Formats: sequence, C-alpha cells, structure tokens
Amino acid sequence: MTGARDLTNRVAGRPRSSAGTGRLDVRNPATGEVIGTVPLSGAEDVAAAVAAARAAFPAWSSTPVGERGRLVGRFRALLERDQESLARSVVREHGKTMADAAGSVRRGIESVEFAEGAASLLPGATIANTARGVDAEMFSEPLGVVVGITPFNFPVMVPLWMFPTAIALGNTFVLKPSERVPLSADLLGALSEEAGFPPGVLNIVHGDKDAVNALLVAPGVDAVAFVGSAPVARHIYTTAAAAGKRVLALAGAKNHLVVLPDADVPGAVDSILSSAFGSAGERCLAGSVVLAVDPIGDELVRRLSERVRALKVGPGDDPSTDVGPVVRPEQRDRVESYIRLGQSEGATVAAQAPVPAGSGGYFVAPTLFDHVRPSMRIAREEIFGPVLAVVRVASFEEALEVANASEFGNAAAIYTRDGGRARAFRERIQAGMVGVNLGVPAPSAALPFVGWKGSAYGALAATGPEAVRFFTRTKVVMSRWPAEPAPRPPAS
Ligand code: NAD
Repeated sequence: MTGARDLTNRVAGRPRSSAGTGRLDVRNPATGEVIGTVPLSGAEDVAAAVAAARAAFPAWSSTPVGERGRLVGRFRALLERDQESLARSVVREHGKTMADAAGSVRRGIESVEFAEGAASLLPGATIANTARGVDAEMFSEPLGVVVGITPFNFPVMVPLWMFPTAIALGNTFVLKPSERVPLSADLLGALSEEAGFPPGVLNIVHGDKDAVNALLVAPGVDAVAFVGSAPVARHIYTTAAAAGKRVLALAGAKNHLVVLPDADVPGAVDSILSSAFGSAGERCLAGSVVLAVDPIGDELVRRLSERVRALKVGPGDDPSTDVGPVVRPEQRDRVESYIRLGQSEGATVAAQAPVPAGSGGYFVAPTLFDHVRPSMRIAREEIFGPVLAVVRVASFEEALEVANASEFGNAAAIYTRDGGRARAFRERIQAGMVGVNLGVPAPSAALPFVGWKGSAYGALAATGPEAVRFFTRTKVVMSRWPAEPAPRPPAS
C-alpha cells in the first residue's frame, strides 16, 4: 500500500469525522516519511462511538451465539485473504521486518480462530434439585460495551486479541488503537464492515490520551481492556476501576533469560538473539537480561558478540534486514540514552552492529552489554529497544534471585539440558510466561497471555479462557416450579 491516508473514526459502520481539529502525522519509521494522519478525538467523538456501541448491544447480544461465531468466521476468512497486505501495513507503520510482521498477523488470526469457537467454551453449570424442588443454573452473559486500548508494537495482533473474542461473546466494542500505528487498525475496521458486522458492533476512535481518558470514565462503558506501558497501565487500572468499570491492564516487562553451563550454547545463542533483537526489541516478550551462570559467561558473550556484530540493520521491507528501526525519533533517543547510561554505570559494550547512515529512519545500533550488575538501571528498567544486558552470576540460585527481584514478571526463560533444573525454574520463577530452551514463550491463542507482578493489573489475562471470563459476567438462576400432581393410577 502506498500514498498517505487521512483516517477518520469508524462509528456505527460508517466513517465519522472527528469533532476536533487536531491531527497527528503517522510516519514510516524506516524513512521518516509521513504516510498518513490520524484524528485526535475528544470527548464528543468518544460519546458518539460509545452511543453507537450501546445502541447495537441489545440486538447483537440477543443474536444466536452460533450466528455471531459465523460472522467472526467470515471476518477471519477476510484476514486470511489479506494477511500479506496487513503484514505490509505493519512493516510500513511499525518498522519491524516482514517476517516478524507476518508472524504477528498469523498470531492475531489464531486469536480470531479461538474467538469463532469461544461461545462453545462458555462456562455454564446446572445443579438439579440443589434444594428440595429447586434447580440451579449458571449462565454467562455479555457485559455490554467493552473498550480496547492498544499499544504500538503489535498493530494487528493485540487488537485481534481483544475485539473478536469480546464480540463473539455478544459484547459491542470501541477500539482506541495506538496513534502511532493506526493504519493497520483501520484496515481491520474495514474488513469487519466487509464481513458484515452490524453497525455499532465494532467502532474505532482514534486519538491519544485525551480520547483514552474520556473512554475510561464514559458512562456507557462497562469494561476496559488495555495493553501498553507500565505507568499508563496503572493509570488505566485505577481510573477505570474508580469509575466502576471492569478492567484488565497488561503492562511492561523486563524479561530474564537464564543460561546454565550445560545448555546447548549454539541453540541458546540463536534463541537469545531472536528474543532480544527481533522486532528491534520492541516486544513485551523480548529477552532483556541474560543471566549467564558460571562458567558459561565467556563463551556465551563471545558467541553472542559475533552474532550481534553481524546483525543487519535496515528497513523492514528489505528481506536481508535482521533488525528494523524503532518506532519514533523519541524512542531512538531514549534507547540511545540508555546505551550511554549503561556505559556510565560501568557496564562494557561487548558488541554493536552498524546502523545505515543518512536514510532518515529511526535506527539504533543493536547493543550487547557485558559485566552488567543487577543494580544498574539498564538491568532493571524496560528499555524497549535492541539492547541486551549480560549479568554474570555464580549459581542457578543467584540467577533466580536476580530475576525474581525484578518489579516485572512477564516472561522468563531457561536454557539447560537438565530437566530437574528446568522444572525447579518453572516452579520458582515469578513470571507468567516461561520458556524452556526458547526465548519468546508466547502462549497459543487458547491459553492466557499472562503477566505477573508489575506486568499486569487485574485478575484475568488477555487471551484464551481468561478472556472469555473477562468479557462475560455470570448469572445464577435458582428456580422452583409448582409440583405436578402425581398421575392417578388408571381405573381398573
Ligand atoms: P503506551 O502505554 O505509551 O500506549 C498504549 C496506549 O495508551 C496507546 O493507545 C496510547 O494512546 C495510550 N496512552 C499513552 N499515554 C497515555 C496516557 N498518559 N494516558 C492515557 N492513555 C495513554 O505503550 P506503547 O509505547 O504504545 O507500547 C509499548 C508498551 O506496551 C511496552 O511497555 C510494552 O511492554 C507494553 N506491552 C505489553 C504487552 C503485554 O502483553 N504485557 C504487550 C504489548 C506491549
């Protein structure tokens, strides 16, 4: 797709111009070129989208569940048809490589496959004769209007975690995509209309924090699902909960990768490299700190250094590129300031890859730090860029101690040939998603994407059965019916 696109909101199945006049440029991070503009919606736009979702709810929630699933299935078929152009859109506005983008679109489609059948997973129960003449039944019903607020790093996948499942379960939806990557979300909106979603079932409101803040307290909104950075997740969780909404807020990460001396080192190096530098490190599952258990450190750093120096940095649409740009100049400056900080904290730059000069893109040199101490800020804070820190530790116990001291608990991985150690790691690591000899432990769509500690707020996770619970509420019915008179014995 070429040419700049000026987006409008999508409300009740139609484009709807924002009431405000503010717009933001959308840029291709590989070139800096403006590829679109996005409206900065305000309270009036939010009210219109919520009203459309509210108006659509009675008919949609009473549409038979199988019919809703089939409609979501038609949407899935259109995603399959357009998966390549969706991936190109992700490359163009996010910057990741085509392989990373295509993989993320595929993962998103898997969530839609899950959504199609979600109705059959609805929890329900009946207890006949729970008291004398009384039957108990449990129903799962949709909540009403659900809001989804999504981050820049997965322009297609994270929206697809949310709205297909919520909608299949009978809710109506208002999506507020990241203002940095709104073009792919708009394509999803167009496909939902082509699939035949009734007007108002999915609405898209573009904008920044003003649109979000209006959504968090909007009277017609029943639940808010958020994925993004930790400070914003805390704000979303507290504000929306105070306004009486059900809230789920997935947040930031600092993922630890433990390498034991018995590990398959070449295999571990491949896995660590793609975990840390895939999507230019802009992933909540990105490995960020390697805990190298003595005496593996020297060999591991030597092998990782060779590979980091050989990484090819460039535009995501060049098939030879390993690492694309980061999303914006401010993000590039932030990551580079962390690289300077690491050096001033006393860590050693073991290796860096060269960046293309003079392209106008927001490229950062992939950087490997060695001799990082756990107390350093580069070992504790989420950098969200192509930077990997190696902390050398004396033992498995010390590795666990360092990883578990993190304020975050999204993902963690261990590389070893020792099943007992792997099992102990699984039991004792304080993280929601655990990899054993793999560095990006993304759960399949039928399982929850689950963060611990500061990586998530709320009782339930974003995908799988926990999403089904989040997007529904339970009703229990106790019934007693007048007893039927006993049949009279036939006259003889
Ligand atoms: P972000 O928090 O800046 O933005 C996320 C959303 O919140 C956007 O739609 C944005 O418009 C809105 N927003 C931003 N600032 C706001 C404010 N002050 N008030 C109200 N709304 C605001 O996150 P991002 O930079 O787009 O995404 C990257 C972050 O997301 C990283 O921290 C990453 O770890 C996290 N993330 C987490 C997961 C997970 O599953 N845990 C998945 C993907 C990304």
